[in-house]
Amino acid sequence: MNESIANTEQTAQTTHASGFSGADIPSYDDYAHCVHCGLCLNHCPTYKLWGLEADSPRGRIRQIVLVDQGRLPLGESFVKHIDQCLDCRACETACPSGVQYGKLVEAARSQIEQNYRRPFFSRLARDFVFRRLLPYPKRIAMVARLLYVYQRSGLQAVARASGILPLFGLADRERLLPPIDREFFFSNLGRTYPAVGQRRARVALFAGCVAQVSFSKLHEATIRVLTANGCEVVVPAGQTCCGALAAHAGVRDAARDLARTNLDIFLRVDFDAVITNAAGCGSTLKEYEHFFPADSEDHVKAVAFQKKMRDATEFLADLGMTAPLASLPMRITYQDSCHLLHGQKIREAPRKLLRAIPGVELVEMTMADYCCGSAGSYNVTETQTSLELLAEKMKHARATGAPVIATANPGCLLQMRAGAEIHSTGQEVVHVIELLDRALTKNF
Ligand code: SF4
Ligand code: SF4
Repeated sequence: MNESIANTEQTAQTTHASGFSGADIPSYDDYAHCVHCGLCLNHCPTYKLWGLEADSPRGRIRQIVLVDQGRLPLGESFVKHIDQCLDCRACETACPSGVQYGKLVEAARSQIEQNYRRPFFSRLARDFVFRRLLPYPKRIAMVARLLYVYQRSGLQAVARASGILPLFGLADRERLLPPIDREFFFSNLGRTYPAVGQRRARVALFAGCVAQVSFSKLHEATIRVLTANGCEVVVPAGQTCCGALAAHAGVRDAARDLARTNLDIFLRVDFDAVITNAAGCGSTLKEYEHFFPADSEDHVKAVAFQKKMRDATEFLADLGMTAPLASLPMRITYQDSCHLLHGQKIREAPRKLLRAIPGVELVEMTMADYCCGSAGSYNVTETQTSLELLAEKMKHARATGAPVIATANPGCLLQMRAGAEIHSTGQEVVHVIELLDRALTKNF
């Protein structure tokens, strides 16, 4: 018998020999599916960068098993290899055995969060972002106003020109800051937007957290496209951050609390669908059941909610576009968002919508299914690796000769806009929904 399988079977009998317990750690049922075939290795960005087994999906799963068996300490080395994973889930798409790698790595990060003491400033930053900022819309708005002043008052230009940012190791991270909107989307919570013409569906819009201060225009475009295609759009008040960033970081209790709030809000009304334009959020929203024990009331709610959850591109492609689209004569290349393609298994919908715009020439980018390096907060925590992946991505994007890059996730948009600037490709980076909106309204 394969040694690794024998070991995992042993673990089934002596569950959590390491002494770790609880629902928020990797489970035998999940990691036992891995047969260590290695077919995922060449799809893994970190393995391709460094060629190290410990930074491959198979190697990370092996470490997860060993920690669970108490044969590897939950120490610095394990934390480093798990932190360096993008959680892009390309390995999941490649895996013939159906290993749910995203579920495993998030559980491993939760195990780390509960049992490993990170350096002081790292603990401070994580506590602030995941527990004291993202769950509170008013605090997000307050921080966003400060950033807005920094970006629009000339302070940003001064900071960049003065050379002070590199002294604090902030030069690269500062370039990745989202541009803050003048008007935030929060004021639209509680509103209903009627369908244009005969109503074909009644949907709820999931508005997110940071997106409400830096992607208001995308939300407005999403509402215009949905209403123009016969959808009544409700933006429920009381909704909150989806919890994806906290879950990816292993701060599972905070993510779970956010999920409970969203479940209460979105299940109050029987919508035909709940729509998000953020693939990173959608991936977590569609997997809320992972946060709760299988027999719990919350789990039942999560399953009911997930059935309604749709990415905006998925929903529109299924519903069918009925609103007339003007011609946009342009060459476009599409970058897959990892959490749309690998997390939600949606490849065709955004391409179908782009092809539906008259005049659009869609050209495929080499390795479009490969992570751009954004990966939630990865570009902030593992900035150098993120920039290496971005450089590779922009090389392929430039080679298409397309002046426009489309994608379907705000995180990818920010990362690739930074990439276009850093690598001077001169390309515009836009959301698929924004292009549909342009074709609808001809406002470009
Ligand atoms: S995760 Fe899947 S593809 Fe990768 S080694 Fe395990 S079984 Fe093979
Ligand atoms: S999630 Fe991405 S980075 Fe992590 S092991 Fe899988 S392919 Fe590699």
